Amino acid sequence: METTTESAPRQHAEQPMTSAYDVDKVRADFPALHQLVHKKPLVYLDSAATALKPQSMIDAVTQIYAQHCGNVHRAVHTLSQSATAVYEGTRDKVQALLNASEREEIMFVRGTTEGINLVAQSWGRANLGPGDEVVVTELEHHSNMVPWHMVCAQTGARLVVVPVTEAGEITLDAFDACLSDKTKLVAMSHVSNVLGTVLPIRDMIARAHERGAVVLVDGAQGVVHGAVDVQALDCDFYVFSGHKLYGPTGTGALYGKRALLEEMPPWMGGGDMIGEVTIRGFTHNELPYKFEAGTPSIASVVGLGASVDYVTALGMNAIAAHEQRVLAHGLAALSEIPGLRFFGTAPNKASVISFAIDGVHTHDMGTLLDAHGIALRTGHHCAQPLMQRYGVTGMARASIGLYSRPEDFDVLVRALHRITKMFS
Ligand code: PLP
Repeated sequence: METTTESAPRQHAEQPMTSAYDVDKVRADFPALHQLVHKKPLVYLDSAATALKPQSMIDAVTQIYAQHCGNVHRAVHTLSQSATAVYEGTRDKVQALLNASEREEIMFVRGTTEGINLVAQSWGRANLGPGDEVVVTELEHHSNMVPWHMVCAQTGARLVVVPVTEAGEITLDAFDACLSDKTKLVAMSHVSNVLGTVLPIRDMIARAHERGAVVLVDGAQGVVHGAVDVQALDCDFYVFSGHKLYGPTGTGALYGKRALLEEMPPWMGGGDMIGEVTIRGFTHNELPYKFEAGTPSIASVVGLGASVDYVTALGMNAIAAHEQRVLAHGLAALSEIPGLRFFGTAPNKASVISFAIDGVHTHDMGTLLDAHGIALRTGHHCAQPLMQRYGVTGMARASIGLYSRPEDFDVLVRALHRITKMFS
């Protein structure tokens, strides 16, 4: 992510700031990169959908099943104790990654979607009512729009949507115009999964707080492209998915400020979230377990810990700088394609390039690129309101990860030249 006053990457003390980034060495850690697809070397440009996995993460998951195969927080026997220790170790790692002040402010969830639904159903149902407003932006992923549609329908609150500019930005003027004393909650992306726009979240959070609103940041595409500091941002909730951060599917984390979490009712009931249960009722557990009902995705959470170790060792700032170099090359290379239209031209942009080419249906493009060994996403990217904003049904999206190379875009551009000739 570009360094700006709104979202200046936090400097992790342990990270080398200026060391050379050896992308070939990094790529050697990702077994999935080294395969042929339709007899062509894989070019993976779909990291915004899900990131490939480093061997150290895969080994950590295997080791849980091979060695520490017990349930967590349950038994006194050694396997349960060691499973609990490595599972809880991830909580400390995520706390450090986000710079949360307390480990109890980190809850494990299945991913961004579940984290947002947790806040909508727990905080939202307890605090929203007729006359209240929830503010989201027009560029949100369905995961940060549908849960708010649902809770508005349940409580009588109204959804207010901040419009996006042609360049794909959310301006502070447009944001201010949507805020009022009725605003109870603001929910916005840190980085757009379609346009790559980095939102001015620090300013947005401050302005929402001036109105007394609570703020949730959807960090699914934010935490992967730069350092995040929830204390400096002062957001109330920050949520991300493990699988986009080079970790396993089925896990993620929700950060929340303790004072809010203490007030919120539990969302799901079951094992581990209780204090005492009788025939007449129950008391709930302390944070964070109050929000972690049932046996969690133990192996996935441990894998998430290994992926956090991986990105932390590389350094979030070094990753961001490398990705910016690849992004600049990708934008320049793609702009040579005749009839190509970019979506999202904000100056503060992270690793996502969406485009369409005159006369080429994006679905056909995706299928033909796959025949060249190129994995790239086509479609509405779970952001139909944004597609409606641009008057299209879909876009092609090339997204960059920490293992991407400028050459990946050279291969893409050569393939796109061949494909556009077929349709001309
Ligand atoms: N929010 C954003 C910005 C995303 O990019 C995604 C996934 O693409 C999500 C939310 C949902 O993430 P998940 O499906 O992992 O819950």
